[in-house]
Amino acid sequence: MTERKVFIDDTTLRDGEQTAGVVFSNHEKITIARMLAEIGVDQIEAGIPAMGGDEKEVIKKIVDLDLPCSILAWNRAVIDDIKHSLDTGVKAIAVSIAVSDIHIQHKLRTSREWVIDAIKKSVDFAKSHDLYVSVNGEDASRADIEFLIEVARTAKEHGADRFRFCDTIGLMEPFKTYEIIKTIIDETGIDVEMHTHNDLGLATANALAGVKAGAKWVNTTVMGLGERAGNAPIEEVVMALKLTMGIDLPIKTSMFRELAEYVAKASSRTVPVWKAVVGANVFAHESGIHADGVLKDPKTYEAFSPEEVGLERQILIGKHSGTHALVAKFREYGIELSREEANQLLPLVRKTAIELKRALFDKELMLIYKQMKEGS
Ligand code: MN
Repeated sequence: MTERKVFIDDTTLRDGEQTAGVVFSNHEKITIARMLAEIGVDQIEAGIPAMGGDEKEVIKKIVDLDLPCSILAWNRAVIDDIKHSLDTGVKAIAVSIAVSDIHIQHKLRTSREWVIDAIKKSVDFAKSHDLYVSVNGEDASRADIEFLIEVARTAKEHGADRFRFCDTIGLMEPFKTYEIIKTIIDETGIDVEMHTHNDLGLATANALAGVKAGAKWVNTTVMGLGERAGNAPIEEVVMALKLTMGIDLPIKTSMFRELAEYVAKASSRTVPVWKAVVGANVFAHESGIHADGVLKDPKTYEAFSPEEVGLERQILIGKHSGTHALVAKFREYGIELSREEANQLLPLVRKTAIELKRALFDKELMLIYKQMKEGS
């Protein structure tokens, strides 16, 4: 048996809900936790117990579900926060602290020494309660590399189980990410987790770069929901690890579309049709050459099969369609178009699609066909 290379910690319920304008009901949080456990994530970042009230209550409820994965609670590097986490019964926590000088000086208004001291105290306290501890370096991507290594080393020496590298404002690129993560691992030997943001559209690429450099964990959210432009989407990370790096995680990818739809609804959003991996258009083909290819062999124009992520293939008939797609579409309705009929129909279909500025519904197609037959 080969050792697992990568583990998924999903933070839809924490960073995802932190998105401006997003609030999940407790019922929705529990449903999302159940679905995440069902698809097979290794860890669910369930929320922030120190917020108290409903937030703390629902984390406790998620712990009580006894799901087949670890439940992690988020904390500042403050002992009082960790006490709130202990109340919920979680066995794993994140201890988060800013590590860049810009955050240390302008947000925390303190010093690097104070940061190191806070890490020592909070990790010592958490480990004395047998918790699994992830030390999160907030704004790690803008931190001084020497200090970052000191932070990770201190965390490890005090018993922390992993270090979360947070590209908090999403300004990393994959090549630099690879170098930094490799340096942290080489220097400290600690398990690293990637927490990447998508402000430049590079969240998935940076997460993969981290994995290539040896990071063992990736922090994801469903559809990339999260602060500002969001986090690394679980569906992208899992499929990209499999198809580009040959790392096939035991994740039930066929539930990705269903999960995306549920989280979209709970966050009052839609799944964009062009969303990578789970958007409805990922398997929609209209152009003549593409539709013809896909009808002959789907592998010609599809990176993976729709069933793998819970989608369906669609051949759209519109401005860019060719006769092969028309013949295939009419065959679905039991009509065998002759070559001549298809050639006659195609310009009428194109004209209508241009007028309507969209692909045609099947009913519209049938109407054009009927009119053509009546007219001929
Ligand atoms: Mn974040």
